[in-house]
Amino acid sequence: MEKVDCIIIGAGLAGLACGRTLTAAGRRVQILEAAAEPGGRVATDTVDGFRIDRGFQVYLDAYPEGRRFLDHGGLQLGCFEPGALIASGGRLRPVSDPWRRPVAAIRSVLTGAVGIADGLRTARLRSEMIRRVRQGRLDPAAAAPAEERTTRAALEARGFSADFIRLFFEPFFGGVFLERELATAETVFGFTFAMFSQGRACLPAGGMASIPTQLAASLPAGVVELGVPVTRLEQTDAGGGVVTLSDGRQLAAATIVLATDATAAAALLPAGLQDTWQPPAFKATTLVAFAADRQPACGRTLIVSAEPAAAGPIDNLTVPSAVASGYAPAGQSLVYASVRGDWQGPAADLSAAIQRQAAGWLGSEVKQWRQLASVSVSRALPVETPTVRRTRLRSGRIAPGLFLCGDHLTTSSINGALRAGRLVAEELLTP
Ligand SMILES: Cc1cc2nc3c(=O)[nH]c(=O)nc-3n(C[C@H](O)[C@H](O)[C@H](O)COP(=O)(O)OP(=O)(O)OC[C@H]3O[C@@H](n4cnc5c(N)ncnc54)[C@H](O)[C@@H]3O)c2cc1C
Repeated sequence: MEKVDCIIIGAGLAGLACGRTLTAAGRRVQILEAAAEPGGRVATDTVDGFRIDRGFQVYLDAYPEGRRFLDHGGLQLGCFEPGALIASGGRLRPVSDPWRRPVAAIRSVLTGAVGIADGLRTARLRSEMIRRVRQGRLDPAAAAPAEERTTRAALEARGFSADFIRLFFEPFFGGVFLERELATAETVFGFTFAMFSQGRACLPAGGMASIPTQLAASLPAGVVELGVPVTRLEQTDAGGGVVTLSDGRQLAAATIVLATDATAAAALLPAGLQDTWQPPAFKATTLVAFAADRQPACGRTLIVSAEPAAAGPIDNLTVPSAVASGYAPAGQSLVYASVRGDWQGPAADLSAAIQRQAAGWLGSEVKQWRQLASVSVSRALPVETPTVRRTRLRSGRIAPGLFLCGDHLTTSSINGALRAGRLVAEELLTP
């Protein structure tokens, strides 16, 4: 048996951040990853020269953990326009950020997309959330307060009109949370709103996978071993444990960090610990990618659909090639359509239904788009309702020398996963 101080199972962002923190403190670490690439849920495939992220994701450059772990310059980030175009009744209406796009924001009011009262409430929400994050009073990784409400309840309590919630918050944050009920906890919403307000929503030139690739490259050579699924984890009496790999090898360490997603972690937990923790359920999503000969008119602005599911399957529509170089071959455009969970149409009609709906917003040239890929992610984001968050583990340590780690411990985002990795590493470094 080979021996290191710590074995980390899973090279997603949480496992990588944990490994980086531990190796920086001088620990000998081995990260064992089942897949052929590091990154877990942050992954990109290349199809005909187009970069297809496995599910639409954005990196928010205000993420504090991103600033700590990543080199933004090296990622060559391209940015979305602040705000969004709201699709409703076959029309697109702009909602802009008044601080960064004052003229466009006035247009939002004039086109009727935002009423003055809702605009003022949004301004108040923005400054309050930014202030609370800066003061350390709004942290989705901290213990969930007993009185925590859903996002919808919090928005209603702030007096937002039902129309503005339906036209803006439901489609915009429905796309972020992968649920339109806005049942996600208000703390998660508040932090995410502050991140969108403080910084920019970005894509790296090399696709989202560049983020974990950069992080993995910052670890000492040989720390990450790819293509080695762990099939069994056993505790040892002295603490820590022994892992068995699919190739039959066994490795032991005084500390084991289980940094897989929550469902995989529950399946790997040693029998005696299965009852100590209940993994959260996951939300799913589907992305359909198209090639276009001409850049769609929305350019770098996100389109979110406030239309009913009967009007079509699109949750949101983006043009990543307009945002970051490298997403499409020269002279071509890449379009992503995220599919809403409540669309009831036949799967065989999905691509055509997306094009029909988008043609109403962007013109008949949409009919010429060519489908490149359809990517479904069944375990995308752990559920983060107030009830589920109240049952989260407060510490990753579930047995002597055995730690759980991942976005399910903090909050389901790139920032949350990096944070989880750092917090677990700091906990196990504490004597
Ligand atoms: C479609 C989608 C959209 C998202 N949108 C955003 C967004 O816009 N912005 C944002 O900030 N966040 C977003 N997220 C969330 C963010 O990507 C995740 O919260 C984060 O990547 C989770 O990282 P993790 O390390 O906790 O888990 P994972 O990425 O799940 O990593 C776990 C790792 O463990 C490995 N593993 C599993 N089983 C084994 C085994 N038996 N042996 C060895 N290895 C194993 C897996 O292969 C994987 O690499 C999105 C996620 C998805 C899927």
